[in-house]
Amino acid sequence: MKTFINDIKISRIISRAKFSKAKARGIIKKASRLKGLSLNETALLLNCNDPGFLKEIFKAAREIKNRIYGKRVVLFAPLYLSNKCVNDCLYCGFRSSNTTMKRKTLTFAEIKKEVEALQQQGHKRLLLVAAEGPDSKTDYLEKVINIVYKVKKGKGAIRRVNINAAPLTLKEFKRLKKAGIGTYQLFQETYHRKTYGLMHPKGPKSDFEKRLYAMDLAQEAGIDDVGLGALFGLYDYRFEVLALLCHAHHLEAKFGVGPHTISVPRIEPASGAPVSLKPPYPVSDPDFKKIVAVLRLAVPYTGLILTTRESAAFRNELLRLGISQISAGSRTNPGGYAKGKDAGQFSVSDNRSLEQVVGDIIKMGFIPSFCTACYRKGRTGEDFMDLAKPGDIQDFCLPNALLTFKEYLLDYYKALPQQAKALVDKEIKGISSPAIKKTTLARLKELENGRRDLFF
Ligand code: SAM
Ligand code: SF4
Repeated sequence: MKTFINDIKISRIISRAKFSKAKARGIIKKASRLKGLSLNETALLLNCNDPGFLKEIFKAAREIKNRIYGKRVVLFAPLYLSNKCVNDCLYCGFRSSNTTMKRKTLTFAEIKKEVEALQQQGHKRLLLVAAEGPDSKTDYLEKVINIVYKVKKGKGAIRRVNINAAPLTLKEFKRLKKAGIGTYQLFQETYHRKTYGLMHPKGPKSDFEKRLYAMDLAQEAGIDDVGLGALFGLYDYRFEVLALLCHAHHLEAKFGVGPHTISVPRIEPASGAPVSLKPPYPVSDPDFKKIVAVLRLAVPYTGLILTTRESAAFRNELLRLGISQISAGSRTNPGGYAKGKDAGQFSVSDNRSLEQVVGDIIKMGFIPSFCTACYRKGRTGEDFMDLAKPGDIQDFCLPNALLTFKEYLLDYYKALPQQAKALVDKEIKGISSPAIKKTTLARLKELENGRRDLFF
């Protein structure tokens, strides 16, 4: 089948993109105009192995990140619903042939407890994660979404629910849209067909094309915020980055809007999944930094997501290079928040609590954001990009980040309260519109007086 992923073309682009400093400097200059990069330009930067020049790429990525996202870092938590899986992905602890894994699908009562536990930490954005199987069908997911939005513990409330679960039919996607999902996230794992076949020997996931076109169906169903990803370590990272761009270009050409986010998971050790202990194409830390920085240059307006698969120190470093959203305080086993430990899907490297992550982010000069405003105001898909590209979204983002952060400070945060308060006072000066600044100041006061959930 002819698809938008052409293995031969991608490999040819990689082998022909000979790195030279002069060419790379021209590409960086183009990237700084925030117009993104072509496949050829991206390949040339990915072929840079000169540590000295990589610093120039990192510097450009830092500047672009700063211009588009400012100091904001969006925080979320995954909520694992089920690890009962019919697939046998060789790298995943949930694979069907892993007989050592205790299997579990959360009941609705257990989900309520998980959501309460997450709310008590201060989370406002959840990513529901499910293995593929009879337990995780649309009926179940629909009910889960309803429950998550309804649970209210103390001052807690989940305001945006995203999903990472197996591809659905058009009709099923429409049902999830109606139930109120934000982003539909699905990782292709590897865009290299042959490797895909080897890694997914059994079950519905072995259909490469079905997975590849899942985002088209989601878009057709009206879910216009979709999140792509590749699992780094399965095949040549340069191939995967170019293929992610092909996927983004395909969506942009067909639906007028590219992916809302791109995730960059890197394989972590998982029990009962030998490939995860010895990935075929391990990605080194320096190469992983290059992946993040080059993606930031290539798709400047696409959110880049990094999870707790990476260590705390490395995540802090990658935040500066282009990551805009991170998970915090995560558990990757169903029931992990309310009950605690069992083996997860893979081992988590960053075990900091949400509060510790927030503390570290503040110390680095970033502003933690729990904002969910765009989705609730209908600024999704093309509407979001129309605002984001000329920079107009900034008028909302910084005030919303400050308002949600202030809420978090008032309701949950115990450590460093003075430092955190000083950050809000300082950053408010960065709001360029006098009218929005005035309203933000008034709303910050209202929050102190007990009002909640104020946003632009
Ligand atoms: N079951 C659904 C699927 O496969 O699309 C969604 C949930 S799956 C639990 C979420 C993602 O976890 C997968 O898409 C894969 O990229 C990632 N993953 C699986 N095993 C991993 C490992 N050992 N290390 C890091 N990430 C892993
Ligand atoms: Fe199942 Fe997803 Fe894990 Fe594959 S990656 S075994 S589909 S949970």
